[in-house]
Amino acid sequence: MSPAAEASLATVTLRARDARRVQAGHPWVFDSAVESESPSIADGSIVRVEDATHRLLGVGPYNSKSRIRVRLLAREPVAIDTAYFERRIRAALSVRERFMPTATSYRVVNSESDLVSGLIVDRYEDVLVLQIASLGLDQRKSAIVAALEKVFSPRAILERSDGPSRRFEGLEVANGLLAGTLGEKAGRVEVRLNGLRFEVDLEGGHKTGLYLDQQTNYEAVSRFAKNARVLDCFSFLGGFGLHAARAGARHVQMLDQSEDAVAASLRNARANDLAARCEAQVANVFDWLKAKSRKDPHAKASETGAYDLIVLDPPSFTRSRSSVPDALRGYKEIHLRALRLLAPGGVLATFCCSHHVDSKAFQEVIQAAAFDARVLLRRVASYSQSPDHPVIPAIPETEYLKGFAFERVDESR
Ligand code: SAH
Repeated sequence: MSPAAEASLATVTLRARDARRVQAGHPWVFDSAVESESPSIADGSIVRVEDATHRLLGVGPYNSKSRIRVRLLAREPVAIDTAYFERRIRAALSVRERFMPTATSYRVVNSESDLVSGLIVDRYEDVLVLQIASLGLDQRKSAIVAALEKVFSPRAILERSDGPSRRFEGLEVANGLLAGTLGEKAGRVEVRLNGLRFEVDLEGGHKTGLYLDQQTNYEAVSRFAKNARVLDCFSFLGGFGLHAARAGARHVQMLDQSEDAVAASLRNARANDLAARCEAQVANVFDWLKAKSRKDPHAKASETGAYDLIVLDPPSFTRSRSSVPDALRGYKEIHLRALRLLAPGGVLATFCCSHHVDSKAFQEVIQAAAFDARVLLRRVASYSQSPDHPVIPAIPETEYLKGFAFERVDESR
């Protein structure tokens, strides 16, 4: 950007005490941090943000409707155009190529983690799925699409901008094909995760089609599956279950409340020649675990200790800080019941994708459940989101997924 172009930008000046976070790398400028701003700035236009001493902190789109008044897109005064998006996309791509070199489906751009606040791009083999969460980027959608076409030459680019945060930016839901064609199979694409085939419904599925953030964890957890009787709770398309089956599990029981998900997980089992050892059932995990773990004096065979590997990967039980206590009760209940079904020496792999429940709180809940279930746990692994959902510690919101594997200590040995 030329000095003249930079000088023509409207300016937002921060309060002295609020500039630090932004200086440290956080791209969000909250309305409460603004000391003063140029008059009548158009929503979506690029502004320069400066500290109280008028030093430039960066440039990014302005939105008076959002509590996040400015989302910084660059530290330097650069134009936010196709060339900008192409640079950021190539930089993000090189992170994936470096840290997930064999993956063919992954998140290409993860918003703040890749220094483009508000933009998510997922790659499903040769199809890209775009999610835009900010007004500034929504207004520059055609530049983003042009950059993606240049970098990937994809078969199609699909938009799935239906995240809840668009509301806070004054944006409507936007879904549809932005470029290319999907062909006869509509939004159904077959992707490979660690070499296993998964059929993904990009038009109707959850999120942008699949939970890509667990890709490396599928493989890591499957190391505990050899000869195991496996229970995969909240199985969706069968990510954990099918990886466990491939790794030599004796039997895999998958559970999900969604009929479509269960049907897809069974199709995926067949596509990978794993169907003989996989079962999937439509069930509410809470009810199912309760029924199985009940101490019923009349039951002929007890299910206690029936599994050698149990995976708990529920949806986020809380979207806000205020509902954290309810969420913790939910986490405690499924852990308590799952631990009763875990054989001594078996492994519980458990995940929490709620940003508001941190690793410490999550482990405390597991500990409380272990106490009530009268089992002793040994922590054998810790997990985070796959490297295509990078964590930037200076931006705490980029970290949300935590998981652990615990062995149930066999105290009789
Ligand atoms: N483990 C999956 C992701 C799970 S996402 C994977 O790696 O892809 C959460 C899943 O839980 C969704 O498929 C949703 O349908 C299911 N779900 C949500 N609440 C449920 C409940 N109470 N019982 C069973 N399934 C539930």
